Amino acid sequence: MQVGRWNHQTGGSSHGGSSNRPYSPRPSGRGGAGPSRFGSRSGSRFPSRGGYGARGGFGSGGRGGGKRGGFGVFGETESEIAKFMNKTVVTTEEPVFVPEHTFSDFDINPHLKANVLARKYENPTPIQDKAIPHALLGQDVVGLAETGTGKTAAFLIPLIDKVMKQKGERVLVMAPTRELAVQIEKELAGFAKGLGFRGMVAVGGANIGPQITQLKHNPAFVIGTPGRLKDLLERRALVLTDFGTVVLDEADRMLDMGFIDDMRLILSKMRKERHTLFFSATMGKDIEKLIGDFLSSPVIISVKTRDTSKNVDQDVVRIPRGKDKFEVLAELLKDREFSRVLVFGRTKFGVEKLAKALSRLHVHAESIHGNKTQGARQRALEAFKAGKVTVLVATDVAARGLDIPAVSHVINYDLPSTYEDYVHRIGRTGRATLKGKALTFVQERY
Ligand code: AMP
Repeated sequence: MQVGRWNHQTGGSSHGGSSNRPYSPRPSGRGGAGPSRFGSRSGSRFPSRGGYGARGGFGSGGRGGGKRGGFGVFGETESEIAKFMNKTVVTTEEPVFVPEHTFSDFDINPHLKANVLARKYENPTPIQDKAIPHALLGQDVVGLAETGTGKTAAFLIPLIDKVMKQKGERVLVMAPTRELAVQIEKELAGFAKGLGFRGMVAVGGANIGPQITQLKHNPAFVIGTPGRLKDLLERRALVLTDFGTVVLDEADRMLDMGFIDDMRLILSKMRKERHTLFFSATMGKDIEKLIGDFLSSPVIISVKTRDTSKNVDQDVVRIPRGKDKFEVLAELLKDREFSRVLVFGRTKFGVEKLAKALSRLHVHAESIHGNKTQGARQRALEAFKAGKVTVLVATDVAARGLDIPAVSHVINYDLPSTYEDYVHRIGRTGRATLKGKALTFVQERY
């Protein structure tokens, strides 16, 4: 972990602690369809276990296909796949993080403190431990942290305190997806219980009328996606000079999604003298530029230690030529071990089709993607979280940042298009102290 002033050189992340243990599912349950049947690569890091495709690897040697320069397209060469697979078996325990603070130490509103403790938050996570004291002092903060690190509370706790202390203070939170905005608002509602102010969600895919009405009540927190916030701004329903504080959550993802112009427009319409908290999982050139343009001497906190969670066991499921991916998936899902499965597909259409096809096989499956209304996406997500649905099929955008407890497996039914997407996908499992498995389908061509 590093803490530094802006222009402090933060360290990059690393693939740590990987070793090459093959994927070893527990003895297969119902139907005997453990992943071991799908074999792995022979004579390499992934020894063959018989079953489908005992020969060869992803792309036979010498084809040399594939995009140059990193993770443009996966699955082109064996080495490319190997690059992103982090066969995580932790043999050495990571040192236990000892926070410098407790929640009781923080000089925050006592009711807020009681709400935090009532939510069973005992010790601050690293990002909370490092960011909250600076945010409480009104300093700009850049937090390099992924979802699952507790970054939401790292900005909500100090900002709720601020709203309590400074009458009329308002906070704008920008997030990349509708689901993440809803999740942040839920967390806000928990911390702000009985504190006498409100927050609202301003996202696309939902009727704008009620959002305009809500804005007339001047909610202290407005949590929205850049596109909808811009729309509200243009309709003069949102007056940005009213806001003294802004949070950019998952800024890198907002950039990836093409929100840069909307983000810049929104920030430029806010007061110059403002408090800005900025969270991103990665620190690229565009992110640095955004920080340089819009933050003032921020404190930089990095809690990134590795790209992939140490709790996620990752493996490849090789689909032999002539074999249908869908059949393989259906077979895997018969195993009771696959109790809460997030399946990633590339396109909205493909995701919808896959969920429907699974439903026809009487698998409890739902889908989330950008063509669904916000209500339908939220319902699918809640059903999945509640365990009423076993399989949630999602696009990358829809699933980004979601905090879903106890996902047993992440399945990359379609290959992710970037390494970043891979990391984010598999980060949906193995959350907190739970173990998870990530399986990546690779279709053999020869
Ligand atoms: P986030 O990274 O903000 O999405 O948080 C991930 C999960 O960790 C959420 O379910 C939070 O409610 C939970 N969480 C965050 N901070 C703490 C904490 N200090 N103690 C216990 N749980 C936490």
